Amino acid sequence: MSTENPLLTMSEKSILPPFRHISPEHVQPALESIIESNRKLLKSLLKNNKQYTWENLIQPLEDADDCLGRMWSPVSHMNSVVNSDELRDAYNNCLPLLSEYSTEMGQNVELYQAYQAIKDSAEFKKLDQAQQKIINNGLRDFHLSGIDLAEEKKKRFREIRQQLSKLTSKYEENVLDATQAWSKHITDESLLVGLPESALAMAQQAAQAKDLTGWLFTLNFPSYYAVVSYADNRELREEMYQAYSTRASDQGPNAGKWDNSDVMNDILALRYEVAQLLGFKNYAERSLATKMAETPEQVLSFLQGLAKRSQPMAKKELTELTAFAKKEHGVTDIAAWDVPYYGEKLRKHTFDFSEEDVKPYFPETKVIPGMFAVVKRLYGITINKVDEIETWHDDVHFYEIRDEKNVLRGQFYLDVYARDKKRGGAWMDDCQGRKRNADGSLQIPVAYLTCNLTQPLGDDPALFTHDEVTTLFHEFGHGLHHMLTQVEHIGVSGINGVAWDAVELPSQFMENWCWEREALDLIAAHYQTGEPIPEALFNKMYAAKNFQAGMQMLRQIEFSLFDFRMYLEYIPESKDYIQKMLDEVRSEVSVLIPPSYNRFQHGFSHIFAGGYAAGYYSYKWAEVLSADAFSLFEEKGIFDSETGEAFLSCVLEQGGTKEPMELFKKFRGREPDIDALLRHSGIA
Ligand SMILES: [Zn+2]
Repeated sequence: MSTENPLLTMSEKSILPPFRHISPEHVQPALESIIESNRKLLKSLLKNNKQYTWENLIQPLEDADDCLGRMWSPVSHMNSVVNSDELRDAYNNCLPLLSEYSTEMGQNVELYQAYQAIKDSAEFKKLDQAQQKIINNGLRDFHLSGIDLAEEKKKRFREIRQQLSKLTSKYEENVLDATQAWSKHITDESLLVGLPESALAMAQQAAQAKDLTGWLFTLNFPSYYAVVSYADNRELREEMYQAYSTRASDQGPNAGKWDNSDVMNDILALRYEVAQLLGFKNYAERSLATKMAETPEQVLSFLQGLAKRSQPMAKKELTELTAFAKKEHGVTDIAAWDVPYYGEKLRKHTFDFSEEDVKPYFPETKVIPGMFAVVKRLYGITINKVDEIETWHDDVHFYEIRDEKNVLRGQFYLDVYARDKKRGGAWMDDCQGRKRNADGSLQIPVAYLTCNLTQPLGDDPALFTHDEVTTLFHEFGHGLHHMLTQVEHIGVSGINGVAWDAVELPSQFMENWCWEREALDLIAAHYQTGEPIPEALFNKMYAAKNFQAGMQMLRQIEFSLFDFRMYLEYIPESKDYIQKMLDEVRSEVSVLIPPSYNRFQHGFSHIFAGGYAAGYYSYKWAEVLSADAFSLFEEKGIFDSETGEAFLSCVLEQGGTKEPMELFKKFRGREPDIDALLRHSGIA
């Protein structure tokens, strides 16, 4: 007998992943074994039943699917956060198997007819709302998997899915490799004037870790951002900007080495083909088939309306910035690498406030317990750290959530700092979801919360910027949505089955507490003295809240319009289509055009490799909901427990059982209103 495979043991016994025991060689055999037994199960379920029911068909398939999901989740997660060549190979070798399996299920006519039979049966009306929604979503997804297509086209659909899964993985790899490949080693301190102590110490620590003297700057976000925001040396800022904004492209210091250009063209062409196969005009329409927004026109007019409202403000902000750079610093040709730098200077000049001023008040040791205290007051839940749980890295901690009755509601891994071999950005992913097992036991939801925030320096705790604290709250909001669900059917529990353009509601909603004095007193205290943020400093920070809010709003709209129109207006084999579309969108909405070598799109994983293709607008779309939901707390008190409970029961606990609009209206008592978003952004 061969030794046991920890991935199989884990998914069969439904235990937490034994991360340190999972090796690349376990991955493919475990996947193959589960897929094979799932195939056998499906066959026997279809054969042995005459009258299909939830119990004899859908429940066992949901369980089988969940088993596969729980096995794959740690693999895919480790591939993102502790990447290695061996794991990458194992991961990539499995992608075609996964894609094949999922299309095969989606194109199984017998299975589709069985779903339809249950839907048409008298039993359907007796099922609960979650079960009905799962069946309805299932029927929709059969069509989106090509169930209606002729055999030849079905085959083509399968091929495209396979290719897309490889291409999106390649895209991510290129971004990660390009990010890791470049760094700037500096031994002459005079080049580093302007950088705050914390940034210098971070760069020194990075150098020491590589046995270098001096300072090492990387393209990991905290390092990059510190340089472009604070370094007085313009050439250094430009060099960092150029390296960062050309990652994985045909430009910049590593031009052509990890170039995503072809990958992106192929992804677009294949998504277009898939949409056409399914009878949609383009991929944007395909994307909306599962979203809250109904038509492309609705999305476009929403974005263009917002652009129109924020443009005057953004123009004013830019004029102010250029005038300031000229008057105070004699700079007349403000460039992309000057904008964050003079932005910081202008903020300091206008509000006497810099992000650096508040960092000492946001030590990790206060922020994280404080964040837990905030949700305790809102939802009555208690969060405790649990030691002795196996994780993938020593910096990762594990927590559990219990409610007022001490019932275990969820568990999560928190992986906070930026480090090598870890994909950039911040995200929440699920390790497992909530569901009632066949034996009556309950599977507890488990989440991964991943950020790339500033590391601790020496013996001090990590000190975060306010922006970083906000990011943490954002991901925690996603996590709560996943973990506080009360739905017991996996297909619509937590974030499963939630329309993508509503998924950012709970996350953006949480960010609001980072701006409230009463909440800040829970999450902020000076790391040396324990003092809360002084009133004067808080007032400055608050006054600067909407500093350059118009420019920020326009930037998000630029990304959203670029993404949506790129998929909506796609023309096959049009040369330089992507760059042209980006240029066009910029010329219409942006106030500041970046240099022509800028290849931002080559690292825009959200829309090429992630789930936001023709869906990046979701952030703004959901922000209308999150801002308006928060406005009820503004009316009733930000820690009003009744309102907190209402949000918990109307939104967080509901998962994907109901349409997001229905949930929102239940909470707010009316349809969403855009005023709160405009007011919060200072645009109203
Ligand atoms: Zn989010």
